Amino acid sequence: MTAEVACWCCGRSRPESGVVRLGSHPEVAVCLSCAHYLHQQARGREDALRPSPGARVRDVGRAIRRQVIQHGWQHKPVIGPVLRWLGSRMP
Ligand SMILES: [Zn+2]
Repeated sequence: MTAEVACWCCGRSRPESGVVRLGSHPEVAVCLSCAHYLHQQARGREDALRPSPGARVRDVGRAIRRQVIQHGWQHKPVIGPVLRWLGSRMP
């Protein structure tokens, strides 16, 4: 049996294959969901520092994502799977 690792961000336990580790601090493990979240946060910071047409499009996408999550539409029976699929493919 493979030991599970606790994510340093959300605290959920995942197998080693379900986490990524920091380069200089390999003791820090972050689950893939949190790693994607952190990537999106980093992209948002970069977009704020360097406005561009692409950054504006991503801003609109992030605003739509916030609305979806705020209303819980990603959990709806019909539209939820589509929204989750789209969300996982957004930059
Ligand atoms: Zn996590």
